[in-house]
Amino acid sequence: MKDTAHPQPAIAPAGRKFAGTDRRAPLRGGLLSCGEFGAGQTAGRFYPIACVALEVTQHCNLDCTLCYLSDRAEMTFDPPLSVLFARLATIRSHYGTGVSVQLTGGDPTLRKVEDLEALSREIRRLGMRSCLMTNGIRASRAFLTRLAAAGLDDVAFHVDLTQERKGFSSEVELNTVRRAYIRRARGLGLRILFNTTVFAGNFDELPELARFLRDRAEVAFVSFQMQADTGRGVLRARPDAITQESVTHAIEAGYGTPLHFGTAAVGHSKCNRYASVVTAGGRAVSLLSNKRLVHRVIDALEGVDDKQDAHIRIRPKSRRMIRRHPLLALRALGHLALSVMRLGPGLMRGSVRRQTVFIHNFMAADALEEDRCASCVFMVATANGPLSMCAHNAQRDMHLSSPDRIDGPTGPSWWNPAVPRLSGGPDLPEIGDPSLAPLKRLKGQMRALRQTRKDAS
Ligand code: SF4
Repeated sequence: MKDTAHPQPAIAPAGRKFAGTDRRAPLRGGLLSCGEFGAGQTAGRFYPIACVALEVTQHCNLDCTLCYLSDRAEMTFDPPLSVLFARLATIRSHYGTGVSVQLTGGDPTLRKVEDLEALSREIRRLGMRSCLMTNGIRASRAFLTRLAAAGLDDVAFHVDLTQERKGFSSEVELNTVRRAYIRRARGLGLRILFNTTVFAGNFDELPELARFLRDRAEVAFVSFQMQADTGRGVLRARPDAITQESVTHAIEAGYGTPLHFGTAAVGHSKCNRYASVVTAGGRAVSLLSNKRLVHRVIDALEGVDDKQDAHIRIRPKSRRMIRRHPLLALRALGHLALSVMRLGPGLMRGSVRRQTVFIHNFMAADALEEDRCASCVFMVATANGPLSMCAHNAQRDMHLSSPDRIDGPTGPSWWNPAVPRLSGGPDLPEIGDPSLAPLKRLKGQMRALRQTRKDAS
């Protein structure tokens, strides 16, 4: 069993500190040192981080066969809002404005809607973007309406067969759930995202699923996350057949066109593959087919980006780029127009939308690669600052047990998930022993193990 109490590789990919005025420099340095800061690289060039997860609970209303949470997750208390607000302030000070903050868990909808409203408001007040990462079960229309009114920007629904939802035995059947979720979020001003874990149980259905997502005009972002041997899930090592290349081919088969994942990069190429398409009426055309042109546009945008310290604001920079490089701008516009034209009959059947397609390749807990952790674009906010998500997943219990220090008007107080509220001193109890918990509270490997023992006795 891969437990966070087990010894882990000696790797210390702690949150990169913001030094001086250039918030992008640490990520750029990490990517440069492993040869990943090429002409197509956008991370560290236009933004200091892609997104930061804020875990608002360790609890979940599902028990996925692939889950990054730890065996102790269900034994924890949720962080008070004061702790989460302090972590938001830390994210803001590390990465500046424009960062996407993922409200996640566990499933964040297990928190009171008032808490999520307060967090959405605070994220907006700090000039960052918010995204609710949920399995969607409790994210009703009314729930999402309240969050959208409070300033939530995006909602990401995670739906796939690893969740073992009752009554669904294929990804095609799960499209009923996906359609219902789209209806719930439609028209609220939220960007709609979908996440899917890719594993042996759905790999053969990937082209069909990709086609389904391609044809949902409301869906702005589609992410495929490859099975990783980490956390409490009962499935472990990824099958050999599932590689970045095989997943790329399956998605391209579904989209019905090459997606040119190698043109632009979002961080390390072993971590992420990025594509951008226009879609209409059941067709898709890649916007990244002309590699040279894309790289020239990236170079020109960098040249007109005078601040280079936080997230680039594309619109004003594009205007400046057009003034400085009118011919290049004309070529880029021509390429865009040509891509739209190539949608052909699709143009008669539906309006043109842009969609981002992402493949994310998390690492196994016992095989962390130092260069990838050091150039990670997906961090999680911990008591000790931002940390690579892969590194966090590999040693969750250790990181969770580290207390948050909150400075208030009457002096400091501390919190860790073993206690329900702030306490006066840093010597907090440890999170409970899951082996002593009732079977019904356990999840993942711990429940499987206890069930086996129970059945045998
Ligand atoms: S979370 Fe892991 S896989 Fe994702 S970018 Fe960071 S190091 Fe790479």
